[in-house]
Amino acid sequence: MNYDVVIGLEVHAQLSTLTKAWCQCEISVSAFENTKVCEVCSAQPGTLPVYNKKAIEYAIKLGLATNSRINKVSVFDRKNYFYPDLPKGYQITQFQTPVAENGHLDIFDDEGNIKKVGIQRIQMEEDTGKSSHLGEKSLINLNRSGTPLLEIVSEPHMSTAKEASSYLKKLHSILVYLGICHGNMQDGNFRCDVNVSIKPKGSEKYGTRTEVKNVNSFRHVEMCIEHEVQRHQQILDSGNKVLQQTLLFDVETKATKVLRTKSDADDYRYFPEPDLLPLIISDSEIQKVQDNLPELPDAKIKRFILDYGIPAYDANVLTAEKELANYFEAALKNYEGEAKKMSNWIMVELLRYLNEAGTSIERSPVSPNSLAGLLNAINSGKISGKQAKDVFLKMYDSGHSADVIIKEMGLEQISDEKMITEIAQKIINANSVNVEKYKAGNERIFGFFVGQVMKETNGQANPSLTSEIIKRLLG
Ligand code: ADP
Ligand code: MG
Ligand code: ZN
Repeated sequence: MNYDVVIGLEVHAQLSTLTKAWCQCEISVSAFENTKVCEVCSAQPGTLPVYNKKAIEYAIKLGLATNSRINKVSVFDRKNYFYPDLPKGYQITQFQTPVAENGHLDIFDDEGNIKKVGIQRIQMEEDTGKSSHLGEKSLINLNRSGTPLLEIVSEPHMSTAKEASSYLKKLHSILVYLGICHGNMQDGNFRCDVNVSIKPKGSEKYGTRTEVKNVNSFRHVEMCIEHEVQRHQQILDSGNKVLQQTLLFDVETKATKVLRTKSDADDYRYFPEPDLLPLIISDSEIQKVQDNLPELPDAKIKRFILDYGIPAYDANVLTAEKELANYFEAALKNYEGEAKKMSNWIMVELLRYLNEAGTSIERSPVSPNSLAGLLNAINSGKISGKQAKDVFLKMYDSGHSADVIIKEMGLEQISDEKMITEIAQKIINANSVNVEKYKAGNERIFGFFVGQVMKETNGQANPSLTSEIIKRLLG
């Protein structure tokens, strides 16, 4: 390809406060339509908004966790536009001065190197209501109206679909680690607008971007970037110009379609919100939040690599979700072998079954302790690695411990030296012809004796111990 790809992402994260941004209505996705609504969030004349202190604390948390500068004074602005799900006729947002600016996140690029992706700004704002369409009728539900949002605007620093989804996964993981966003993409807790442009390779000047609105899964973000890059390329190659448009991603056709064509910047007639004082954040407030930050993904990754000696890739996968990281550490508590082996079993077996079943690690039918038991059974030679896969499957289906399943399946390896020696001696005594052949130099006959012991023990004899014993008996 003769072009460089430029990607910038805008994320809207719904904050998991109990109540809305400017009123005390409860936030609930499951409540009956229009039951979580008051005078403020339905925009009755004469009502006034009041800050939700928790939402401000959450904004500071994210600012600090993304290496951003927290602005000591920021201002709320009105973004004016009409839409039926926005009864005020304007959205309260931050335009001139957001609560935090100039941050960055570290991600892995496609070559596995660490890459810094800049964050322009983090601003506080509010969600709208929701409209839905029923035949000829349009319905409005204001339960969501006034839910606090953080909008996180990245610099256009990403250049592949993979990088974009790495950035999103990192941001998502930080929000959930901080406990400030449920991060449920199906419910719209975490939504992403994808900006894409291409420019001739090496050129300084950015090309015209298109913006795909509200893409709600990591996979769809990757798909819509790949689609847009291809589309832009075809347009430029055929000598035409990309139009600055706002698009929607159609999941069915896996293509984008035009929502509206922008004429320069949209004119929202921003002006400072007269009903809210400027937001003033003191050093001591920032310090208090800083002191209470949990261990974040990057710190956990470093610690996992150092303390457990697992590769960076594993550490990255295992820390993507806090619960997964906790599972890994809990499993290591009662496990005596190498951490890398545990990491393999979690990443390859456990996560595969959980993904297939569409469940989360919190609901894993195999507890961390049980998985440790299984791996200990392999390491002590009680069962083979191959048998362990079958045992694991049964553990997953039944929720029973490894020991119970191993007994049930009659898999316990026989490592009783005396017993194997007796069986082997009996076989040697009964096969003097083969013994002669072995002694005459036919080494291939050795396998015959091992096979006979296995047959005698239903395959349960410990193979390496069996070989050792037969060798000794045959002299
Ligand atoms: P708007 O709010 O109108 O969408 P912004 O200036 O806030 O405009 O930019 C939105 C996003 O677009 C940012 O994440 C930014 O990094 C990204 N962006 C800006 N220019 C480009 C470009 N030429 N190509 C790709 N992304 C871009
Ligand atoms: Mg935008
Ligand atoms: Zn309300």
